[in-house]
Amino acid sequence: MAKGRAVTIATLGSHCALQVLKGAKDEGFKTLLICEKKRAGLYGRFGFIDSMIQVDSFNEFLRDGIQGKLKKANAVLVPHGTLISQMSSDQIEKISTPVFGNKWILRWEADRALKQRLMEEAGLRTPRPVASKDDIKGLCIVKLHGAAGGKGYYLAWDRQSFEEGASRLVSQNMIKGEQDLYIQEFIRGVPAYLQYFYSPVTKELELLGVDRRYESDIDGIGRIPARQQLGAGSEPSYTVVGNIPLVLRESLLDEVYKMGEAFCRAAERLVKPGMPGPFCLEGVYDSEGRFTTFEFSARIVAGTNLYVDGSPYSGLLYDEPMSMGRRIAREVKIAKKKGRLGDVVT
Ligand code: AMP
Repeated sequence: MAKGRAVTIATLGSHCALQVLKGAKDEGFKTLLICEKKRAGLYGRFGFIDSMIQVDSFNEFLRDGIQGKLKKANAVLVPHGTLISQMSSDQIEKISTPVFGNKWILRWEADRALKQRLMEEAGLRTPRPVASKDDIKGLCIVKLHGAAGGKGYYLAWDRQSFEEGASRLVSQNMIKGEQDLYIQEFIRGVPAYLQYFYSPVTKELELLGVDRRYESDIDGIGRIPARQQLGAGSEPSYTVVGNIPLVLRESLLDEVYKMGEAFCRAAERLVKPGMPGPFCLEGVYDSEGRFTTFEFSARIVAGTNLYVDGSPYSGLLYDEPMSMGRRIAREVKIAKKKGRLGDVVT
């Protein structure tokens, strides 16, 4: 990056772009959005977006023309779920614009085997991965690879229910075949998404928020009486439509911090430079208050959009509204001042 020049914070127009760029503006940065033409009208409504690069599709993002414009703007790119779902890990690693956080760890988020390895290295309790449909014992959740926002997930309890679900997804063109599916033990309890920020500059871990997802139609099923549920014969899906705020029992917080710290240390061992910036541990609390982590996101999650004005947790750490987007921008600002931008981007 050009030293001494003002930095622009850039991101793709989707997922948590509004929060990220609002936070960047609040910290005094210029902001830039790479935006699909069809969404330009939406994003044009917000005065904190200084400029837009309009594209027909995000596939164009890697082209020299766009990377050149980002370079000219001296941009730091904030990656989010849309980047992960629209681009392969190889493509992400080739981005020449500095990426906030560790772009190499995004491969570990996208690949189920690497993901499981990192969670185990961190000593987190995880659901049992099920190697094949013949090993299904008890209730399992069947997932697609990558960040698909829960779309297409289904429950299976034996070989037959697995195969029925798989052929449904094939007929809907969501997968090519059973090889595209990942089976995991289903954990009973309530889901919680723990939103962290780790600063390589201060070496401090911050818990900035907790949320749960609002998923269609699994969260709507309780609105239908049991008799009609049984008669409907349809499979629930887990497609995320929004997020709901959550505060945890205070007695759970100590373990929340310990899990986050263990994750950062494991990331440092397995995928340098580790886990600078935002990340999320995603799991289920059972009736004993034990957390089982079924996923992680190694970048900002959309659940942080709840806390544009700060959360019950950020309010304990900051005397000003501190969203995750703003925290990212604050880190860029501090790192730049200390001549350590290289520690927060890859
Ligand atoms: P994900 O997109 O992987 O975060 O998961 C979407 C949703 O699936 C979660 O919010 C949970 O409701 C559910 N889920 C995912 N994995 C599990 C699991 N192993 N056990 C129970 N529920 C799960």
